Amino acid sequence: MGEPVRVSEGATRIDGRKIAAEVRAEVALGVRALRDKGVHASLVVVLVGEDPASRVYVRNKDKAATEAGFLVRTVRLSAETTQAELEDVVRGLNTDPEVHGVLVQLPLPKGLDAGRIVDLLDPRKDVDGLTPANVAALVMGREGLVPCTPAGCIELLDRHGVELEGCRFVIVGRSMLVGKPLAQLALARHATVTICHSRTRDLPARCREADVLVAAVGRAKLVQGDWIRPGAVVLDVGINRGEDGKLVGDVDFEAAAKVASAITPVPGGVGPMTIAMLLENTLLAASRSAGSGR
Ligand code: NAD
Repeated sequence: MGEPVRVSEGATRIDGRKIAAEVRAEVALGVRALRDKGVHASLVVVLVGEDPASRVYVRNKDKAATEAGFLVRTVRLSAETTQAELEDVVRGLNTDPEVHGVLVQLPLPKGLDAGRIVDLLDPRKDVDGLTPANVAALVMGREGLVPCTPAGCIELLDRHGVELEGCRFVIVGRSMLVGKPLAQLALARHATVTICHSRTRDLPARCREADVLVAAVGRAKLVQGDWIRPGAVVLDVGINRGEDGKLVGDVDFEAAAKVASAITPVPGGVGPMTIAMLLENTLLAASRSAGSGR
């Protein structure tokens, strides 16, 4: 890790783009090493319909995975695809030995049942870490694949040298994608975890208890500067469009940076880590399938 950049107010800005680039470079080395053993690690992304945001996400994932040396294929299906047709596609990918990672881009168009698709996906190829088997593995501390955004949060903290053991780790948001799996990861690292949500009483007070505070809500600038304990580390997962059209997080960055010891910006913080961890998961899936572990 290079020298962290200090922002004028005092907090260190945790540079997610730089750390993600490091992870991606390491993954690229792993992909090359696997190729030397005769296995070309591969990722298939399934995109159903024309949702503009999903198309951008899929394009970015395709580009990043291709740059890291993976064999990447995007299966594009029309918004009229039936549940049975989509399930057939997933079954085909499950049984294709050349395919190591499968990602079905969510949300699916109306009428398609994402839960059934997730249930059907082979957990060994589930690089988003969303299948019931992978959720159970995470809770039980067994080998599996972990959702990318929470994995990226832990990676950022680790590479920033934040000690998690015994720390008070407060997460705002309890989604299956971010809050809940992050709580499990932090627990596994011996943090004392509090999960807050929309019905939490006195949210500012709970946040003020945090040594590490993670905001994953989806409400611009919900977390105020005076919610932060002096010296805390703040990770902002939120991605919101401000009134001026610019991206803003769930934390009031300017105010928080005056109090925190380190903070992630939006954009350029947690966001880039999500794709980096997707690549890491795909390499892991390919390595396990090739029997070489990691
Ligand atoms: P979600 O809508 O599934 O969950 C939001 C959570 O916030 C819920 O658990 C809810 O209880 C809680 N919440 C809502 N209002 C609240 C309030 N007023 N006070 C406290 N808690 C409240 O969202 P999600 O999928 O977990 O995503 C959260 C945010 O993170 C969104 O902005 C999303 O765009 C962003 N996100 C970013 C990345 C990334 O790569 N950086 C990845 C996933 C999600």
